[in-house]
Amino acid sequence: MDSTFFDSSCYNLRPQSVTSHVRSHCKKRISYFHNNEIGNFQFGVQHPMKPLRLSYTNDLVCAYRLHEKMRVFCPPKATDHDLMEFHIPSYITFLKNVTPENSEQYSFDADRFNISEDCPIFRGLYDFCQIYAGASVAAALRLTSEDTDICINWSGGLHHAKHNEASGFCFVNDIVLAIQQLLRVFPRVLYIDIDIHHGDGVQEAFYETDRCMTVSFHKYKENGKYFPGTGGLGEIGIGLGKRYCLNVPLKDGMDDESYVALFKDVISDVKDRYQPNAVVLQSGADSLGKDKLGGFNLSIKAHGECVRFVKNWQIPLLVLGGGGYKIENVARCWAYETSILVDAEVPEALPKNAQFYNFFGPDYSLHPPLVRRIENLNTKADLQKLSQQVHERLRLLDGAPSVQLHEFSKDLQDLWEESEEEMRDYQEDAIPDIRPRRRLMLGENEFYDRGSDHDNDDQLVDEDQTMDYVVDNESY
Ligand SMILES: [Zn+2]
Repeated sequence: MDSTFFDSSCYNLRPQSVTSHVRSHCKKRISYFHNNEIGNFQFGVQHPMKPLRLSYTNDLVCAYRLHEKMRVFCPPKATDHDLMEFHIPSYITFLKNVTPENSEQYSFDADRFNISEDCPIFRGLYDFCQIYAGASVAAALRLTSEDTDICINWSGGLHHAKHNEASGFCFVNDIVLAIQQLLRVFPRVLYIDIDIHHGDGVQEAFYETDRCMTVSFHKYKENGKYFPGTGGLGEIGIGLGKRYCLNVPLKDGMDDESYVALFKDVISDVKDRYQPNAVVLQSGADSLGKDKLGGFNLSIKAHGECVRFVKNWQIPLLVLGGGGYKIENVARCWAYETSILVDAEVPEALPKNAQFYNFFGPDYSLHPPLVRRIENLNTKADLQKLSQQVHERLRLLDGAPSVQLHEFSKDLQDLWEESEEEMRDYQEDAIPDIRPRRRLMLGENEFYDRGSDHDNDDQLVDEDQTMDYVVDNESY
């Protein structure tokens, strides 16, 4: 598939052959997927999801010269057919045809596909989906070709999308599409999610199979009070997938020490028991301190430590983005994690040749201090108990499953065909869908001040002033 790639993804580079960046002494083979167009899409002026964060990220990656240590690809867009590998055809056709101008005539479809303030119709929506999903699929294919150890797509990781509807700022689920590709070659794929929200769309897609084990660390409140409302300890998978789904529900305020210790403790046990052949890591940056929709206190270093830990397993690895709503910090985090993945040390001072340098003030550093913290509601006793419960569940795994490769496609194909059939029945009978639909933006996101959020100024305003949660003055 080399012939479909061209190399033009860094703003300061001339197009060149895909192999010209490879240094012979590189220990690991890293591939980086980025399309410059992705940063130009806009969900809406007041919408917290800002694709511009991907331009910021790529800017820092290039300014730190990390692209010289990777193979850089501008991947092809996903085709309709690619997207229909997971999503039902009627949903993809809708996404392809609807525009801000004609959306009124699609109001019935918009409702059943969960189009809302969270997931609005915006100009270029389908192109946006094709670009980020195409990058994840291309990255997965490259991992299966065995000439790459690690693939990175910061535009991917949109883990809430379901096979038949949008959810939580996600329209198509690039993660599921990528894992489907990996499963064509690798017997067992481990999915790890460190976004602050539960990885519900990926969990749901693989809930009935042992070919993909899903593990999500996230903020969780009883009675569905934090989006998406799922992700309790009791969700463990069903049928063949029973016990191959693990959730680590946490309360507000997780700090570096407790998060990294718990992450390493849990994920090591998962790896030892499941013995994955490939790993997909969703590295959502809304688990960082000061995120507008989050509630944890993680530093960029701690978030990166989780990435480093998984990378050091030396198992084929696909690293994806995800949430992240304080866009300068998202860019810092993902640039730093890129440096970890390519084994490069980068200076603390951000490179002055970065195009967006001025937006990283007042400190212009990679690891700015987190001076205000949310009270950590996770007591030591809570975390100890949680760790115990998780290990108890893992002990019930009967070793790594060694399933036949064909089982996956058959089982899941059946499942998706059933879903499509259900959708047809729904259309015919017009039975209202009574599943609870929650809103990410309008849920219990006490840190998001919609009134002060604009595309062009949120980098400049310290919106911590608008937050009313418990803080202390300790420098962090
Ligand atoms: Zn999130």
